Amino acid sequence: MYCITHFIAGAIIGTAVPGPVSAACAGLVSHAVLDSVPHSEYSRASQGVLDVVCTCLFALGILMAGADVRAIAGGLGGALPDLEVAAAFLFPRAYRPHGRLSLVFPSHSGLIRHRRLVFPWGALTQALAICGLGALFFWAF
Ligand SMILES: [Zn+2]
Repeated sequence: MYCITHFIAGAIIGTAVPGPVSAACAGLVSHAVLDSVPHSEYSRASQGVLDVVCTCLFALGILMAGADVRAIAGGLGGALPDLEVAAAFLFPRAYRPHGRLSLVFPSHSGLIRHRRLVFPWGALTQALAICGLGALFFWAF
């Protein structure tokens, strides 16, 4: 999924747990769960850069709006696993020791499998996941 999807989901979930450490852990878990939803990925590096820039701007925006530290921690925990995807793109030799991509996070390594959808359907599933999660947490907390 897109980095901003993981950040928003982690931020939403983070506000429902007692502290920043548990918020970051909940965000991390949410990454694996959300990656199991069929979704689309980038086809160009520029889309990844745009995603990271938008995520940083969103984080800065909610921070300036007075977001709870748990929201920021949850968002960072949710987005953190995608750092290995970015690192694998930037340093391909380090992540392809035997010519095959080797990532660690369960939803990136293939341990947790997920279907891919073409754009725009794969982006729509991400938007629906965020809307559903937001509605659930709005009514529950
Ligand atoms: Zn991921």
